[in-house]
Amino acid sequence: MKYEEADVQQMRRALEDGDVTAKDLLRQARDVIERTNGTLNACVALYESADRDADRADDLLKSGNGSPLTGIPIAVKDNICIEGQPVTAASKILEGFRSPYSATVIEKLQQQGAVLVCRANMDEFAMGSSTEHSVYGTTYNPHDTERVAGGSSGGSAALVASGAVPLALGSDTGGSIRQPASFCGVVGLKPTYGSLSRHGLIALGSSLDVIGPIARTAADAELLFAAARGEDTCYDSTVDSFARGSCKEGGVVIGVPDNLDEIGIAKETMAAFEETLDRMKQRGHTVAKVSLAGIEKAGSIYYIIQPAEASSNLARFDGIRYGLSVPGDDLWEGYRKTRSEGFGDEVSRRIVIGTYVLSAGYRDAYYNRAVAARNQLRNIFADALTSVDVIAMPTTPDVAFKEGAMQNPVTMYAEDRLTLQANLTGMPAISVPMHCSGLPRGIQYLANYGCESVLFACAKDTESQIS
Ligand code: GLN
Repeated sequence: MKYEEADVQQMRRALEDGDVTAKDLLRQARDVIERTNGTLNACVALYESADRDADRADDLLKSGNGSPLTGIPIAVKDNICIEGQPVTAASKILEGFRSPYSATVIEKLQQQGAVLVCRANMDEFAMGSSTEHSVYGTTYNPHDTERVAGGSSGGSAALVASGAVPLALGSDTGGSIRQPASFCGVVGLKPTYGSLSRHGLIALGSSLDVIGPIARTAADAELLFAAARGEDTCYDSTVDSFARGSCKEGGVVIGVPDNLDEIGIAKETMAAFEETLDRMKQRGHTVAKVSLAGIEKAGSIYYIIQPAEASSNLARFDGIRYGLSVPGDDLWEGYRKTRSEGFGDEVSRRIVIGTYVLSAGYRDAYYNRAVAARNQLRNIFADALTSVDVIAMPTTPDVAFKEGAMQNPVTMYAEDRLTLQANLTGMPAISVPMHCSGLPRGIQYLANYGCESVLFACAKDTESQIS
């Protein structure tokens, strides 16, 4: 088994046959990171707790109590808390902060014997589409190191694509799992909102955020999803997603928005998308046009609701309770100095937008209208999903861009125009690499609430076109 190319099932077999131990796999993960991190800058720090995780995994395996992820090395985005470990959301404002508790998904994974290897780089507080807005610097794309890995979970995607780990946790508020997965040629799932607990995830947009897997294969993403999902008494909006909706598998009806050509998608991406759908037809699926008028409004809705929620969530970073603390002559001066030194430009911009759209006199014109438009969008998707099983779109308008290419924030925001809909509606969506030459391009399947199983089925059929 070549570590960098192995998937979770192959690693599991090697562990069960006694060919390797969890300690060996951890050593190999660290070796790859040591070799590649100078170029990719995907890993922010190794966890001190990883050796303990690996020992526990080896004990579980020896006693025959292993589960599918026992001994498997996993990277964790730097906005998911592990007790006693530093966590910064790639921000200076959390410098020196260690988490007093673990996220529920972390507890679940550790109980099952997963080995949490390292903190993965990201855009500061998960705001961005390139991992350029990080206090640790840009993460580069393993397929072309002049280009970005995408964002905000760019570190997680680059670690999986470079072979450092077969699995990583990311978070997705507007596309942050699927877009970097698409840029790096790996699989990324944004689960149904609430199907994984957000307890212990540093909040960005609370009505949009969800933790999810980045993996080399759809089957591996499915394993991580199954291991991490479920209700949580610490988080009252978890839903047992599989209790909802009926999801048929095999021979699905794939809906394609009839207004895709108005969205500005690169010619090569559209060609790969159409070819992928043709091959899906050959495999017994049906492709139909579906009316989704209004999907192009997702950006206008998202870039009001998300900054509004972000500005509220980030109010807690006051220089007293967490991380960085810059003293001032009085309390207000201390707040001001800590926040202006601690937050980067993009975060400051969103706080300004967010407080503006929520302020008295503007709230009705912006925030409340955006919430009403979001409800309309939900209805449009729910209606479309009565006639088709999944909706397919390219994940991103084009391939990974070069570092520094998106200087205008609005151009960067436009990167998300095909991924925001899943967050605004709360529906699950998966990105999987398409068959194409050159840099990776992803196709995205979106389904009704709780219908992840149909997404995994479509993703597996799409993958089989490549192998
Ligand atoms: N790129 C989007 C933003 O900057 C999405 C980020 C995310 O999903 N965390 O808001």
